[in-house]
Amino acid sequence: MASEVDVVIVGAGAAGLAAADHLRRAGLDALVLEAKDRVGGRAWTDSQRLGVPFDYGCHWLHSASLNPWVAIARRLGFTVAPRYVPRQTWLGTRWASPDELAERALYYERSFAAIEAAGRAGLDLAASHLIDETSPWAPLLRQWMAALSSVDAEELSTLDHYNYRDTAENWPVKEGYGALVARFGEGLAVRLATPVTRIDWHRPRPAVMTEAGTIRAGAVIVTASTGVLAAETIRFDPPLPDWKLTAIEALPLGRANKIGIAFTKDVFDGADTGGMNLLAGAPRGMTYQIRPFGWNMASGYVGGAFCGELERAGEAAMVEHALAALQSVYGGDIRRHVGASLVSSWESDPWIRGAYSSAKPGQAHRRVDLARPIDGRLFFAGEAASPDFFSTGHGAYLSGVAAAEAALASLSRLNAAVASREHLA
Ligand SMILES: Cc1cc2nc3c(=O)[nH]c(=O)nc-3n(C[C@H](O)[C@H](O)[C@H](O)COP(=O)(O)OP(=O)(O)OC[C@H]3O[C@@H](n4cnc5c(N)ncnc54)[C@H](O)[C@@H]3O)c2cc1C
Repeated sequence: MASEVDVVIVGAGAAGLAAADHLRRAGLDALVLEAKDRVGGRAWTDSQRLGVPFDYGCHWLHSASLNPWVAIARRLGFTVAPRYVPRQTWLGTRWASPDELAERALYYERSFAAIEAAGRAGLDLAASHLIDETSPWAPLLRQWMAALSSVDAEELSTLDHYNYRDTAENWPVKEGYGALVARFGEGLAVRLATPVTRIDWHRPRPAVMTEAGTIRAGAVIVTASTGVLAAETIRFDPPLPDWKLTAIEALPLGRANKIGIAFTKDVFDGADTGGMNLLAGAPRGMTYQIRPFGWNMASGYVGGAFCGELERAGEAAMVEHALAALQSVYGGDIRRHVGASLVSSWESDPWIRGAYSSAKPGQAHRRVDLARPIDGRLFFAGEAASPDFFSTGHGAYLSGVAAAEAALASLSRLNAAVASREHLA
């Protein structure tokens, strides 16, 4: 491993790779150190186990018209396009009628409008205060909110929700978002299986320490999740200032997981839906994608505290939960046709430690502090540092580019100062 580079980037997720790409284009020598034996972080596609691409983490290009991954995907030959995804809701014994679905949509609209109005007025409350719990749709709304934010409504900040820029364009990546991020990272200088254990940043050239050796750089960009930073897996010397620690603590990762089940034949009578909600048993319900792209599979999505319970119960329990729910809709016969299954377990992953960041109520303003550099040498990126696209793959990308820009500006100021000192000498 080289012992000197211009910039060291900690983490090869969407943010770290975006920063590395940006710095390389600017002609700098940037090295990414990644703890895992693969790139992508929370962007991870498996195309083998189910026989079709399955994203353990990000899958949808949210706010597509503002999403930089759309152009990258097209350039790299990935299939991305808007897709009409009919939503259905199972009420325990039957599908909801069109009138019932319209009633539900109205209830959701009113609830989100109330949360946004609070945010717009600068009120940073728990969203749970604004939910009309008397509605029969309340459990489903809570389940949906937990999937969106990865926390339950009691932990969801109205101001954070309001600050997110949603254009309601959600496009799937057919070959996998994780595969896209990995392809984008090809050719960048990344060293895998190299966890950073310590960063000494008080020196003019910070030292980044790993078991494979120490590397010095003019700037360090840290993209590890707030879960990893809060666990103090990386030691900072001197310790991070209080305002940075407060920001990390204010923006914890919630919980979200997926369960993928492949079937040996079409057990769903040809349905191809983007989302299916199960009302029976909610809030312990999940959202399912049934036969996406016509593939004989179902993908379950669960967020919030219930997700944590399921993850702790283990893979078999997660698959059984999803299968039992699908069986209640499509009949017992489906079990005979299960081909393969897999689950994500993001909270148990020591290099991630959760799903995506959600500001604690009262703390939404801390995202700015998370992104703020320290001393012109230590820079922070990652989804949680995005002011308006947090929790997403494109928020991570844009935060990586922003941190790279800030590092570039700081390094050129430093170089100019050194050159002028040399000139005077
Ligand atoms: C279930 C789920 C579904 C999702 N769905 C979507 C979606 O549909 N659309 C969307 O836009 N977003 C989605 N997301 C969110 C999206 O995946 C993330 O916001 C994004 O991938 C985060 O990228 P990042 O670079 O900020 O962080 P990460 O991907 O976490 O990258 C950080 C990297 O740092 C590494 N690292 C940690 N510690 C160290 C260390 N000490 N030394 C070296 N390396 C270290 C990690 O291994 C990791 O690779 C989803 C996430 C989950 C969990």
